[in-house]
Amino acid sequence: MRTWKLSKYTVVFRGISGEGIFHNSFMGALAVVPEAEFEEIEGLLRTELTEDDIQNKALNELCRNGFFVPTHIDEKVFVDNILTKENCNRFFDIVILPHENCNFRCTYCYETHERGRMERSVVEGLKKFVESKSAEYPGIEVRWFGGEPLLAMDLVSELSASFLHSCQKNNVCYRSNITTNGYLLVPETFDSLLKCGVHDFHITLDGPAEAHDKTRKLANGGKTFETIFRNLISVKNREGNNFKVSIRVNFNDDSLALMDGFFNLMSQTFGEDSRFGLYFRPIGKYGGPNDENFEVCDYNAAKLVEVDLGHKYAGYGALDKLVKHSLQSHGQVCYASRASSIVVGSDGTVYKCSVDFENENNKVGKLLPDGRLDLNSYWDLWVSKDFSEHEMCNECPIYPLCQGKYCPKKSIILNKPICPMTISTYSRLIQLATSGKAKFQ
Ligand code: SF4
Ligand code: SF4
Repeated sequence: MRTWKLSKYTVVFRGISGEGIFHNSFMGALAVVPEAEFEEIEGLLRTELTEDDIQNKALNELCRNGFFVPTHIDEKVFVDNILTKENCNRFFDIVILPHENCNFRCTYCYETHERGRMERSVVEGLKKFVESKSAEYPGIEVRWFGGEPLLAMDLVSELSASFLHSCQKNNVCYRSNITTNGYLLVPETFDSLLKCGVHDFHITLDGPAEAHDKTRKLANGGKTFETIFRNLISVKNREGNNFKVSIRVNFNDDSLALMDGFFNLMSQTFGEDSRFGLYFRPIGKYGGPNDENFEVCDYNAAKLVEVDLGHKYAGYGALDKLVKHSLQSHGQVCYASRASSIVVGSDGTVYKCSVDFENENNKVGKLLPDGRLDLNSYWDLWVSKDFSEHEMCNECPIYPLCQGKYCPKKSIILNKPICPMTISTYSRLIQLATSGKAKFQ
């Protein structure tokens, strides 16, 4: 006779109205069972379910949607096999720093700005590198980063033309996004970027002008909010649906008090436009030259504030998608842990993590002018750590989300897996993802 057990990756919460909230971190599935039905089945959740038990409608739905699994399955082995296959089938992901200097001097910046525009030999090496990877992988994803990538817009155009050509020739997908401070994102540049295949834009504001202009200053000390906001309005006034803009809002203890007014401004300006999304991140210390010059929120407190700000702003553009993505398998895995992911600096240095460029063990090799990678022994530190059997991860119900690979930089230092969130943050995220949602999403 067939029997079922609660999946080891299903977590069950009681919602504020007494409903049962189920999240399965392997399937990325969420279900809400109303209070009356939940009370009927609560006592059975940790038992072996028989065919008779699953005549109950709610239990039947939960079994059919993967919250319960057949008892005979070794679920850890089954899930590990699938996650490994998914990890092998990914796009090759390259973060490119076409210019490592910046027109801004943010008070918390972790970069030294010692290196500048990308060297010609690196540009040629990148073209050849992508040509060869596009023949091996199902797709290429390029992320333009810096410094400020728009200081070298000509290189972004030249490289993009070559990458698009290589991907077309090999009949594979090409995806590209850019992280820019937005100051130089005038309409003509936006047009050029769309032609370069860049359809995802990440732009940072530190709250309203009075907070933002204190921390995100021009290199000469000048203000930047007004120009960035004007550029964002120009983007908003465009026709078409072929781009997305994610506005990252950095906060610290000082700027939190100003967020309500800022929400109003952003809702009134972008709230109805599904091409725009807003998300929140605490300003953090990343090991750069300015770490001692600014205050940050305590990490766990900051995570909760991040979720709360998100909650306040729920319903706004891409927020919902971001929260849901973070609750799906691989949603909390850092790209730096993957063998199919590199960061290429303007002098050809290959890094793994994009927020710690001065750390020696983050310099994992060089991109050669002929397009090959010359990797050193640090590479293995980032990609070979396997915490799947670690005592913390082995029984963890959200193992598929992070697989012990949330932050390899910290894991290397501490020689243990780093969890992406506490249980209370996890439960807040689940509530955010299910707020106002009907049964069985
Ligand atoms: S390794 Fe850690 S610090 Fe570096 S990008 Fe990944 S999560 Fe961020
Ligand atoms: S690092 Fe933490 S959250 Fe991630 S799988 Fe391991 S125990 Fe779970």
